[in-house]
Amino acid sequence: MVVLEEPLKKIVEIKNYIDGDWVESESDEKRDIINPSKLKKIAEVPEGCAEDVKMAVDAASDAFPSWRKTTPLTRARYFFRLKELLEENFETLARVCTMEHGKIIDESRGEIRRGIENVEVAAGIPSLMMGYNLEDISRGIDEILIKQPLGVFACIAPFNFPFMVPLWFMPTAVATGNTYVLKPSPWTPLSMVKFMELVDEAGFPPGVINMVHGNVAPVQEILRNPEVKGVSFVGSTHIGRDIIYKEAAATGKRVQAQCGAKNHLVVMPDADIESTIPSLLSSFFGNTGQRCLAGANLVMVGEDEAWVKSTLDKIKDAAAKIKIGYGLEEGIQMGPLQAEHRKERVLSYIEKGVEEGAKLVMDGRKYDSSGYPEKCFLGPSVFEGVTTDMTIAREEIFGPVMSVMRVPNLDEAIKTINKSEYGNAASVFTNSGKTGRRFQYEVQCGNIGVNIGTAAPMAFFPFSGMKDSFFGDLHGQGRDAVDFFTESKVVIQRWP
Ligand code: NAD
Repeated sequence: MVVLEEPLKKIVEIKNYIDGDWVESESDEKRDIINPSKLKKIAEVPEGCAEDVKMAVDAASDAFPSWRKTTPLTRARYFFRLKELLEENFETLARVCTMEHGKIIDESRGEIRRGIENVEVAAGIPSLMMGYNLEDISRGIDEILIKQPLGVFACIAPFNFPFMVPLWFMPTAVATGNTYVLKPSPWTPLSMVKFMELVDEAGFPPGVINMVHGNVAPVQEILRNPEVKGVSFVGSTHIGRDIIYKEAAATGKRVQAQCGAKNHLVVMPDADIESTIPSLLSSFFGNTGQRCLAGANLVMVGEDEAWVKSTLDKIKDAAAKIKIGYGLEEGIQMGPLQAEHRKERVLSYIEKGVEEGAKLVMDGRKYDSSGYPEKCFLGPSVFEGVTTDMTIAREEIFGPVMSVMRVPNLDEAIKTINKSEYGNAASVFTNSGKTGRRFQYEVQCGNIGVNIGTAAPMAFFPFSGMKDSFFGDLHGQGRDAVDFFTESKVVIQRWP
């Protein structure tokens, strides 16, 4: 068996990156970063504190006037250079991501690619940032709209896409002329450490892009600090809604908070089952279910018992064959949960599902983990007979668990989805354009798939989300991001 070489050979002592330098945190507390596939310590990250954030915000604030005056074309050129460096270091970045997160190498490669695409979009900022104008709004008077940067922006990132998520925001924010403070997840900080080494090499002026580590204390300072003009958050709904959105708004900041999810995948009787099954498997069990776009509830439509049984049998057969293990080993198709407590959480939902009367037809707890320390590994689970009132149908599990629900028709499928408190993503599998159109029209979710299991928007489209999955107005990526990171100023002029 081929095992890819690990790029991290010794324990990394992680530092903050402030004003163009790697600096020690003011906090003495440290957290161990563990490779979840091997339960081996790979790094130590500071817990962080308000002082770290103040230093980073001061540096970003000082860098702003001159960065703002740097022309968009020149700012874009830094991103062309960064893109080259990212391509040169692509494989290392992907392997680091697998080491700290556990996802398989191809998932990491996909994540790095998606991140780089955001850098590519940012390199087009001279066109993207253009405003518009109208001559003669009244005789001899012209009106123009220009987009201007606001100052310091910050990102508070989740553990599950340690490389890609910060890149949904930072490149556009900085290319539009703002300066930046990034706070990675305290569980998976290494991907951003490697990324910032390349930012440093690309030669961005000191203070333009900064990074501080830690968990709660740095976030509190980001939310409080009056110099921070806006915050991009990605994480769980409770933190996003009850802490970030409320507290950042209280100090007048712009906020985009992309939060939790409970995604429904609907299979219609006319779906092409052969192409649907791989899409379902990848959606429910890819990234070990730790994706905000992951399938959670599988909604089987219609009363054809033989069709439902044969479809579910195919899904279970394929799920049983998924090869689980360390993502740097060849042929592995699913990694572990990112940390022990995340597996505990999934286990508690499996127990809850059984308790509430759902039928556990495939039990991921019985997966044989021989060869790997079992603390974070878990096989795929499938529940049948799940109803909308059950906890496993309503709450985000964030693990490899499929809950199968039955509804008689498309009306009921759409009602079921719209009843959910979340509105991140939903997909329908069908051969009918009419069904697809109706699904797109009526379903209250931000990212819709038609014969697509994981409806992940490309960098030039916004990553949408509704209801308890998103708080704010303008989403990450695409034109939304350009608007979020700029102020629209209108100028009306007459030259008598
Ligand atoms: P999390 O909410 O635990 O953490 C996210 C960030 O918030 C981290 O940087 C963390 O340090 C910070 N944080 C945690 N507790 C805090 C507190 N009490 N006060 C201030 N800051 C705090 O989320 P997670 O477990 O890292 O990520 C998983 C979640 O992210 C899932 O719910 C998933 O659906 C969601 N997610 C959403 C999207 C999307 O686009 N909608 C994308 C990826 C992940």
